[in-house]
Amino acid sequence: MLSGGEPLTHPEIDRILFCIKKELKFSELTIITNGSLLADHQDALTQVDRLVVSLDSLDPQFIARIAGISLIAAQGVLRNVIDTAEDRRRSGKTMILNAVLTPETLPGAETLIDFCREHRLLVSFSPQAVNNWPRYELAVAPEYRLWIEKLQKIKQAGAPILGSDTYLSKLLAFEPYDCYPTLAPRIYTNGDLSYPCRPMEKAANEQGGRAINLLHFQTWDEAWKLALKTYGQPPRTCHSCFQQCYAEPSLMQADPGALLYENLRYPSSRAGHPDSYTPG
Ligand code: SF4
Repeated sequence: MLSGGEPLTHPEIDRILFCIKKELKFSELTIITNGSLLADHQDALTQVDRLVVSLDSLDPQFIARIAGISLIAAQGVLRNVIDTAEDRRRSGKTMILNAVLTPETLPGAETLIDFCREHRLLVSFSPQAVNNWPRYELAVAPEYRLWIEKLQKIKQAGAPILGSDTYLSKLLAFEPYDCYPTLAPRIYTNGDLSYPCRPMEKAANEQGGRAINLLHFQTWDEAWKLALKTYGQPPRTCHSCFQQCYAEPSLMQADPGALLYENLRYPSSRAGHPDSYTPG
């Protein structure tokens, strides 16, 4: 997975995308983008299996304000998303909208689902984090709870919503869970590995940091040994954050049966067949 910053601003991004698929032969490539440069990379984006666009709202004025861009640029982002969705639909490739829930975006969240149905996209939601913890005003808002409960319900009815039922339940209760942070290792463009996870690295305490640069090693095992020696084993019982990229794989690792059960129970929402869901 290539995430940001904004990966499409990298001067060599087209070459990198082709290299990952054609030369390195990765079986699956995901990229997360803000959508502003989609139109400039259409050819290279055909190499991407899962295209994730961060889009919190369909209101161009809101996008312009939050992203610090002009209204015309915000309208361009929406146009890019619609055009790219059409291309992806025609080529049978997955596209996902990822929306951050905040007290400000919550009222428009429903329209995002309608938009995704219309353009045959998947959608995922995650709560806005402050210091790696869901924003207080959001977590205590009754509207937030109602929305997560609604997501669970309509996902079970086949709505094109990503995120496991287990994860959505955690977003309601914020119960601690066993985290396996190294299931989703984060590597920077210069080769630095953020060990054991980005939140701990940011906290700059003795538990974590940029342990090693992978370019200095021949094998992953060699690099990993030094990371373990420098900062010790990654924690398993930390519950400092609910970031989807860490929480979701950890929850599945803790209970793989739940994922299997869910795939059997809600195949349409995972596979992204928006037509199978009719809003009630
Ligand atoms: S919950 Fe996981 S990802 Fe978050 S700080 Fe703890 S170990 Fe890191």
